[in-house]
Amino acid sequence: MHPEFEAVIGLEVHVQLATDSKIFSGSKARLKEAESVSSEGVNTNTDPICTGHPGTLPVLNRKVVEYAVRAGLATHCTIQPRSVFSRKHYFYPDLPKGYQISQFDKPICENGYLEIDTPDTGSRKITIQRIHIEEDAGKNVHMTGYSLVNLNRAGVPLIEIVSGPDMKSATEAGEYLRSLYGIVTYIGVCDGNLQEGNFRCDANVSVMKKGSKVFGTRAEIKNVNSFRFVELAIEYEIHRQIEVIQAGAKVIQETRGYDSAKGSTYSMRSKEEAQDYRYFPEPDLPPLVIDPQWVETVRASLPELPDQKKRRYVGEYGLTAYDAGVLIASKPLAEFFESTVALLSSKGKSPKATAKTASNLLSGEISRLLNDEKGGQKDISQSLIRPTHLSDLVELLVDQVISSTGAKQVITTIWGSGESVATVVEREGLKQVSDLSALEPVIEQVIRDNVKQAEEYRAGKDKLLGFFVGQVMKATGGKANPTLLQDLVKKKLQ
Ligand code: ADP
Ligand code: MG
Repeated sequence: MHPEFEAVIGLEVHVQLATDSKIFSGSKARLKEAESVSSEGVNTNTDPICTGHPGTLPVLNRKVVEYAVRAGLATHCTIQPRSVFSRKHYFYPDLPKGYQISQFDKPICENGYLEIDTPDTGSRKITIQRIHIEEDAGKNVHMTGYSLVNLNRAGVPLIEIVSGPDMKSATEAGEYLRSLYGIVTYIGVCDGNLQEGNFRCDANVSVMKKGSKVFGTRAEIKNVNSFRFVELAIEYEIHRQIEVIQAGAKVIQETRGYDSAKGSTYSMRSKEEAQDYRYFPEPDLPPLVIDPQWVETVRASLPELPDQKKRRYVGEYGLTAYDAGVLIASKPLAEFFESTVALLSSKGKSPKATAKTASNLLSGEISRLLNDEKGGQKDISQSLIRPTHLSDLVELLVDQVISSTGAKQVITTIWGSGESVATVVEREGLKQVSDLSALEPVIEQVIRDNVKQAEEYRAGKDKLLGFFVGQVMKATGGKANPTLLQDLVKKKLQ
């Protein structure tokens, strides 16, 4: 970050709710993007309501309200006993009604927060100003010389989650997004498919002189579809605005896009071109009145949330906050970890002694393999490795039967084959030599071969210990148990 400036970032996130049907009608809502663009799949999930036929009336999907409340409770919001739907007017072919039904001045959830952890700034609360319910629009497909409209997406339920202008860096914004993504997928209100636009973010970015109380003019970067790209877009935008100010010019309030190929943001429209949506309360829907007792029923049905899980991993298993964060970032990964620890403790291994090792393998080698998958990151529950594999492996590691290099090799092999750990360890000869009677003669031979060094060591050149350990390792093909070896070599040298 620039020494004279600081950045201010606020995020607006659109979350597609995982309901079976649309927000105001009975058409299917959970369509695959592939379905909605393929030639046979266009305009197949539509009806007179979501296509805006005159004389039709919307009927609110109860599940949408429940999911919005779940999201609000999970982010510590106040659930409003009374909220109001409004019409947001604009003209676009993908919006046949001429307005989007949304919530405006009376949203369903207000005043929440989310906790984020970054290596630089530690744990911080980011406020959530509001969460409101709205319908998605359709999709224009631009051909050469003409455009087509697909309304499969029209009326798909969304919630928009609006943060306070609380984040100070691209890293914090990325953390916020990952944390929010974790929450909405844990509580089951979002399928979390990023490629299909289940979780879309607009980033508001401004800069100001360090210590200033007055925010600078902001730019809003629209619809960036990966966490990494949001971070890069924000990073770029911060530097761009600082340069504008340093050149003596003014940042203008505008909407910008992000070009991921160029790695830069570009202007789309300025504030002057911004439309007046002429919001007014939706006359076809009554105010949404929520019974506080029902809210409590919903609260009671919430699962353990990512940040609770994280605290438990730190407290119960002694993981660092960072390691716990990596595990909880993906629900399947956290479930995998918990099953592994449960298996180990059923074999009498204490979680404190084994959880760290399991966590290291998951966040290291296994995450690396997951990220390497073609076609985007794979979900661990779809891979061949199972908690039984990992628990067997951790057991061998903590008992020092295999080395950490050996463990990595086993994981890579299992990744492709799904074989048992024992089979792989046996076949690839990965057992460490921990047998003293097997190591002793090797050490003695090495000392005999290096008499001069042995004398120097005894004369006080401690550094030479490493040399001897290395020689024995070489002689055993890297299979000697390193901890044991170190002690034994020391003893033999004296
Ligand atoms: P709009 O609805 O026009 O986008 P809002 O006032 O609702 O405007 O703000 C939207 C988002 O912009 C919020 O996430 C808020 O935190 C953020 N925001 C507001 N002012 C600034 C600013 N000066 N710099 C960065 N973010 C801001
Ligand atoms: Mg906005």
